[in-house]
Amino acid sequence: MFPAVTYQVFLLKRFKTRYMKLSACLSYLYKKDDFLEKKLAEIIGKDKVSTDIGDRLCFSRDVTPLCYKWIDLYKLPPYTSDIVASPETTGDVIKIVKFAGENNKKLFIYGGGSGVVGGVIPTERGITLDMSRMCGIINLDEQSLTVEVQSGIIGQNLEDFLNKKNYTLRHFPQSIRSASVGGLIATRSTGQFSTKYGGIENYVVGLEAVLPDGSLLNTGDKPRSSTGPDINNFFIGSEGIFGVITKAILKIYKMPEEVKYQCFIYRDIFCALDSIREIMQSGIKPPVIRLYNSEESRLKFEKLGFNYDGCLLILCFEGKKELVEAEASVAMEICSKMHARDIGGELGKIWFENRFDTRHILEKEEEPGGMSDAIELASSWSKIKKLYTEVEKYFKEKNITLASHFSHAYTTGISVYNIFYLNAKDEKEAIDKFYEVWDDVMGIALENDATISHHHGIGIIKRARLKQELGKGIEIIKKLKDSLDSENIINPGKLIEN
Ligand SMILES: Cc1cc2nc3c(=O)[nH]c(=O)nc-3n(C[C@H](O)[C@H](O)[C@H](O)COP(=O)(O)OP(=O)(O)OC[C@H]3O[C@@H](n4cnc5c(N)ncnc54)[C@H](O)[C@@H]3O)c2cc1C
Repeated sequence: MFPAVTYQVFLLKRFKTRYMKLSACLSYLYKKDDFLEKKLAEIIGKDKVSTDIGDRLCFSRDVTPLCYKWIDLYKLPPYTSDIVASPETTGDVIKIVKFAGENNKKLFIYGGGSGVVGGVIPTERGITLDMSRMCGIINLDEQSLTVEVQSGIIGQNLEDFLNKKNYTLRHFPQSIRSASVGGLIATRSTGQFSTKYGGIENYVVGLEAVLPDGSLLNTGDKPRSSTGPDINNFFIGSEGIFGVITKAILKIYKMPEEVKYQCFIYRDIFCALDSIREIMQSGIKPPVIRLYNSEESRLKFEKLGFNYDGCLLILCFEGKKELVEAEASVAMEICSKMHARDIGGELGKIWFENRFDTRHILEKEEEPGGMSDAIELASSWSKIKKLYTEVEKYFKEKNITLASHFSHAYTTGISVYNIFYLNAKDEKEAIDKFYEVWDDVMGIALENDATISHHHGIGIIKRARLKQELGKGIEIIKKLKDSLDSENIINPGKLIEN
């Protein structure tokens, strides 16, 4: 398990220490904008703005592997925030957004900074809107089972609050200790229990957002409506380009009465995939379905001291005791029909205890010339096997280590998570290879009608390929952006190219 300090605090400290070594010359290179500092301090208060070079640099990066390499190369983000503004209320956000519009200053929204596609990295000079102080819990509606929060709250803090009252969100992205609710909505995130509860789009009942002209949108808490397109959905996955999400009303759940893990070993990954499809299409909904390919399973077995050989499938069932037993028995029947070996629930429980540990990826970034990242694709059941085979072949031919698993299953398809570990002679070559791998794999995905992003979003890393996936859809997004933000003030260059 990652220690008590949050993953994000750990990273921030590391970035700050490194940047601080360079602070004297950085302060010279990145002169502060006195006008911005004076004006914003007047508008929202002196204690809510910072021009400290350490803050400006730390808020100009996320957890994209590129950011590590930039630091190792003593290279800096292409642009650095001029000032960090930390609003506490929706009123503060409105003032900042209006100020930015009136003075033609770009505004970059920073949630938890746990994004992995460069969503918070400034693409021009401007103001960074640090949402971390907007972390309040506004209302718990125990009849409707919803919670209303300010968008800067970190996922784990919300989960802790709910757990004390015997409720739970059940939206468990691996970054739950560092991602904010606003960021989770803006990137259309999903969690490890998504197969039963869905992605963030299944949680958002309503939201409040400050639009680029400073006006306020509020969509309420209706369970559903047939009043035209769902306005919430314009913001879910918008990556901040349509405005700043300031509050959200989210569905919550009662703590499950019973939780049961069941694990199986398959000789053949495609037989295991067929089992998952059948489970999903049989009408039962295990919250967790994770299938590791033989390479990733082997690493897991070795690390944990188990003597198994094959592909590991972890299933979890939860809810009312009778339902859990019934669902588990349906799934077991499907798996045994495919000649899977039932190995009980122990490995599932171990997975659960260690599910936030990402040290293996971090360690690779630390290696000189080493780089690692996860490419999360998804496709329909009829196309997933070909996609998986072609991606695997690509990495074999390039001699790059790949560990894959399938998770987030649907009745219509599944997502595949490809973690690659590349080596290069130096940091510069690692960055070149990184871009090449991303572009090649996105090309394979598009040729196979798969999505280039199942849940991490587009940011700046995948922008160039988005048009190929969305076709005409990209024009709709651009027109919407233009009509809401004609001067391109908020999150310019994010999701879509300028
Ligand atoms: C170790 C690790 C594990 C991860 N696991 C998962 C996972 O399981 N599932 C998953 O979906 N993702 C995962 N991610 C990716 C990342 O955590 C998510 O993309 C998360 O949703 C980002 O939230 P954040 O608050 O950190 O957003 P940030 O990184 O701060 O921002 C991301 C984007 O959202 C915009 N944004 C942020 N807040 C707002 C707001 N209030 N209004 C409008 N726009 C806003 C930003 O401008 C930016 O474009 C993981 C990342 C890491 C590092």
